Amino acid sequence: MEKLYDLIIIGGGPAGLTAAIYASRANLKTLILEGSKDMGGQLILTTEVENYPGFPEGILGPELMKRMREQAKKFGATIINEDAVKVDFSKSPYTVETSKNKFKAKSVIIATGARTRWLGLDSEKRLIGRGVSSCATCDAAFFKNKNVFVIGGGDSALEEALFLTKFANSVTVIHRRDKLKASKIMHDRALRNKKIKFVWDSEIKDILGENKVSGIKIINVKTNKFSELKGDGVFIAIGHLPNSELFTDLSKDEKGYLIVKNNVFTDRPGIFVCGDVHDHRYKQAVTAAGLGCMAAMEAEKWLEENK
Ligand code: NDP
Repeated sequence: MEKLYDLIIIGGGPAGLTAAIYASRANLKTLILEGSKDMGGQLILTTEVENYPGFPEGILGPELMKRMREQAKKFGATIINEDAVKVDFSKSPYTVETSKNKFKAKSVIIATGARTRWLGLDSEKRLIGRGVSSCATCDAAFFKNKNVFVIGGGDSALEEALFLTKFANSVTVIHRRDKLKASKIMHDRALRNKKIKFVWDSEIKDILGENKVSGIKIINVKTNKFSELKGDGVFIAIGHLPNSELFTDLSKDEKGYLIVKNNVFTDRPGIFVCGDVHDHRYKQAVTAAGLGCMAAMEAEKWLEENK
């Protein structure tokens, strides 16, 4: 017989695990589907996390996630290492299926996160954490007095570039067009910053270096001329992709981010959302954890009121 849970949490990053800590501590029968691949979400990809409160000496991303997971288990949450592949939110109890199991729950928290849009180069994959990053807030401090590149032309790219100037010696933004997609205010701010340079009409073709980044190879799309630039870091900022494909019946914005009301509510009763699958503004572990807490508290309240 199918087990009926009070709450199923889809996603095992900081949002999902914090929701699980709160829900299971409130005695809700809680199941987390943490996914079959990257236990702990995007933080697994980072090295040291220096800005998560409570760890003045810093903590490795995977270690932080391991601890959150242990904390959720301590309060009795069941964690299953499977991907949700199908959901049915049309009638209560709601159904969430993986390739092996079918689960039912009175309420659901969606915490599936987002993934970095990567360039897709082999060298990029090889050098992630060795000079290639997608998060200046996480990794800029490792590039003190170094020369770094930012790839992209939107607000994210300029925000990354501006943040990097606090540490790096120089920041070169590589953009494939001759004008930015970013807002004027960000553009003006970047132009005023003497550490930021722009290379226009250029696509990155390779990231150079065996075990750590030593530079990049680019092509000018107007002249078809290749060139190599020396540098120590490459920040990819060409956008994010929310992991929201599964939720065909919920409202999304034009980029696929789930639309929420009052921080964590969807338009379906008993279905809540938290973390990067809806929050494209802050995208931090601590904000995801905060939203996870809110979603669990709202789920608990909703279950109490809808017994
Ligand atoms: P965007 O989609 O706005 O921009 C992505 C940029 O990356 C574009 O310039 C695009 O180029 C470029 N790009 C995409 N794919 C590739 C590729 N394969 N190779 C090279 N370049 C590529 O994403 P953002 O993450 O910048 O922003 C997302 C949203 O979040 C926006 O609405 C933005 O305004 C908002 N935001 C706001 C901030 C703020 O207000 N402080 C900070 C960060 C984000 P092209 O122009 O050629 O398409």
